[in-house]
Amino acid sequence: MPIKILIPAPLRPFTNQQGTVHIEGRDVGEVLQNLAAAHAELGHHLFTSDGRLRSYVNVYVNDDDIRYLDQERTPVGATDVVSIVPSVAGGAGAVAGAVDELPALSPAEVQRYSRHLIMPEVGVDGQRRLKAARVLCVGAGGLGSPASIYLAAAGVGTLGLVDFDNVDASNLQRQILYGMSDVGRPKLAAAADRLRGLNPEVTLRTHDTPLTSANALAIFSEYDLVVDGADNFPTRYLVNDACVLTGRPNVYGSIFRFDGQASVFAAPGGPCYRCLYPEPPPPGLVPSCAEGGVLGVLPGIIGTIQAAEAIKVILGAGDTLAGRLLLFDALHMRFRTLNLRRDPACPVCGDAPTVTALIDYEQFCGVGPTTQAGATAALPPELETTVEELKARLDRGDAVWVLDVREKTEYDICRIAGSTLIPLGELARRTDELPQGPGAPEIVVHCKMGGRSAKAVRLLRDRGFANVSNLKGGILAWIDRIDPSQPKY
Ligand SMILES: [Zn+2]
Repeated sequence: MPIKILIPAPLRPFTNQQGTVHIEGRDVGEVLQNLAAAHAELGHHLFTSDGRLRSYVNVYVNDDDIRYLDQERTPVGATDVVSIVPSVAGGAGAVAGAVDELPALSPAEVQRYSRHLIMPEVGVDGQRRLKAARVLCVGAGGLGSPASIYLAAAGVGTLGLVDFDNVDASNLQRQILYGMSDVGRPKLAAAADRLRGLNPEVTLRTHDTPLTSANALAIFSEYDLVVDGADNFPTRYLVNDACVLTGRPNVYGSIFRFDGQASVFAAPGGPCYRCLYPEPPPPGLVPSCAEGGVLGVLPGIIGTIQAAEAIKVILGAGDTLAGRLLLFDALHMRFRTLNLRRDPACPVCGDAPTVTALIDYEQFCGVGPTTQAGATAALPPELETTVEELKARLDRGDAVWVLDVREKTEYDICRIAGSTLIPLGELARRTDELPQGPGAPEIVVHCKMGGRSAKAVRLLRDRGFANVSNLKGGILAWIDRIDPSQPKY
């Protein structure tokens, strides 16, 4: 009876790139011996010369490690699936090839990395492995800043950055790659200056483009692993799927206010982001950092954890976060880890994947490029008011009631004089505070940029408020065009 064996990406060069093979055998040992007989090169990677299973190879029958079953005598039947899971530690090399193929260190590098070289977990060979490694940071923002700085300092030989933004003054609260003189410059140019100044031994490669389904596979295949510093769900899923499809480990981090997460996804045999979160949340349910804020220190901690995980994946040292999700709460200073499992039904990394090519991630996440940027989600034009119209009507003394649906913290920064604050989340139960009935003034709703207020306009119209409109561009447009004396955020 042939048994199904799953071959991880690093070992597929020895099975003609087959991810699944079927081999006869009654127990695990017999199946592996027959597998080695059928694919001699693979056998060399699995077994020592005296026939013992190499210590960096874990074998699972279904979800269970054979070390906790009957080891190589574990019986297998027609419905069982045998998975070979090489640990990232050990002989095959986590990312680069055999030790004798690694680049040498120059005397200057030996001096620069001396604190690494005297550590048994790194040593000269580990430092050469770092030099051979190629790491891509997706995003040069809050997470990408500390991650890229530490990876460059640690001597990762090739460091790639993908970003297309310019440095804004509001970035400096957390994006430690940049300084005052960088405001207005392209992030990649500023980041390259900073990282080259830190370590000229590193080859920097900049990808001045949004990451898309059209370019992700080509870019990822030039690197050994990816550090995910994305700030939105479409990019998060794109990075995950492209990592699974190219066999690149995905060193994941995410941040919001005081809470951070980190993991290593798409490691051989390990779960991917979709095993954890198969579907994105509905658009608007989870606010972005631009909407909800983030403690400036938080990306420093999570991005540094990502750098540490990337280095461990490269070295094959210790236990990475593959198969675990790290949760960090900076407000109460607590770390927790949850165990994760690869989902055999995962649409991307499962046993019968349905996603075998990159898809339209904006559509998958239910957002368009404009709503993602926080702009107005198409309201009909008759429901919109410009800031100039509002200003003229207020000056004329028209009956207009301005409703601000932002949060109190935002209202404390800037406001339209005479407006009433009712945050969007409280609006549904506080509609009795709004003017209504015959002769009631028109309600003009605003938020920061027009997205939340568009939702408020829809909610109010559903509740029977007919005389309601949305202030286009929100208070930022008001400050730009009507009242530049107020601060923007
Ligand atoms: Zn998965």
